[in-house]
Amino acid sequence: MDKIANTLLLAVTLVASGVAAFACDVPGGGDGILRPAGERTPVQEAARQLGEGLHDNAAIERLDPDLFDAVLRAADDAEADGVDLRITSGWRSRAHQERLYEEALVTYGSAEEASRWVASPESSAHVTGDAVDIGPTDGAIWMGQHGAAYGLCQTFANEIWHFELMTTPGGRCPRMLPDGSAER
Ligand SMILES: [Zn+2]
Repeated sequence: MDKIANTLLLAVTLVASGVAAFACDVPGGGDGILRPAGERTPVQEAARQLGEGLHDNAAIERLDPDLFDAVLRAADDAEADGVDLRITSGWRSRAHQERLYEEALVTYGSAEEASRWVASPESSAHVTGDAVDIGPTDGAIWMGQHGAAYGLCQTFANEIWHFELMTTPGGRCPRMLPDGSAER
């Protein structure tokens, strides 16, 4: 192979690997379009804005892709209504959830009271990537009013910020559970 072809091949490989690395940042990022490394696809850009303030990219990356898509579409429509809507917490590791639960045990003094507010790692939908917390408060309220159009439902009556994909888009959300300690 001559020198020019070699250089070209190297350049293409570098760009492709850069895009591939970046496409892993968020679900749905790989649209097959080659872009210079570091340039975001519209979905990646939207995801970045959605998760702004999150410390860990995995909180977004490891969400169920359908859940992520639904929140993305909702955030778009909320923005059109002049409402800021973000994911304040998404996927959490078991270890992270365990820490939250331990803290809640200290704060609330009993497992019974703690589990009304923080799920154990065994029962948390955050650990499986099936739940998002929405903020700020206006965003959560907007989602409570419009979420069903995207299949997104408030799961617990005492957590206006916590949403899961629980119905088909435009369907009816199931009755809310009183809090996280209730049997599903
Ligand atoms: Zn939650």
